[in-house]
Amino acid sequence: MATLTVDEGMVVAFHYTLRSGTGELLDESEGGPPLPYLHGAGNIVPGLEQQMLGRAEGDRFDAVIPPAEGYGERRDEPPMEVPRGAFPREAQLEPGMQFATRGPKGEVVPLWVRAVVGDTVQLDTQHPLAGETLHFSVEIVLVRAATADEQVHGHPHGLDGTTGHHH
Ligand code: ZN
Repeated sequence: MATLTVDEGMVVAFHYTLRSGTGELLDESEGGPPLPYLHGAGNIVPGLEQQMLGRAEGDRFDAVIPPAEGYGERRDEPPMEVPRGAFPREAQLEPGMQFATRGPKGEVVPLWVRAVVGDTVQLDTQHPLAGETLHFSVEIVLVRAATADEQVHGHPHGLDGTTGHHH
C-alpha cells in the first residue's frame, strides 16, 4: 500500500510542542492525545498547515511560523471591559480563556479573557498568541482520508473519524 501523505481532504493527527521566540513553552500535546485536524479546512494556523503538506506518518520536523502566518500581528488596542456579572456565576474566568459572542450580523466573534480586575473582566478580540513567532516541533502520528461527514463539517471527528459529537 502506498504511503498516505498530507493533502487536501486528509485528516492528520500530530503531537507538538509550541515555544515562543525566547524559548518559553506555550503549549504542548504531551500527556494527552495527538491533535487531529482536517487538512485544507483552516483548522490550524496557515503557516503550520502549509508545512504539513506532503508529509507522512512518523515524520518529525520543526517549523518557525511568523505572526502573519500564525495568529496574526498584534494590534495595539485597549481591552474591552465587561462587568463580571455579565458572565455565569459558575464560570471560571482565567486569562487566555476563549469564548464566543455574536456580532451585529449574527456572526461568531471569538473573545479571550485578558485579565480579571476586581468586578471587571478585560476582554481581547485578538488571540493571546497574536504577534508571536511560533516555534513548533511536530511529530505526525496519523494520516488518513477524511470521511464524507468530516469533509462536509470541515473538521475531524476524532482520531478514527467516528468519535461522536453533536451539532
Ligand atoms: Zn462535525
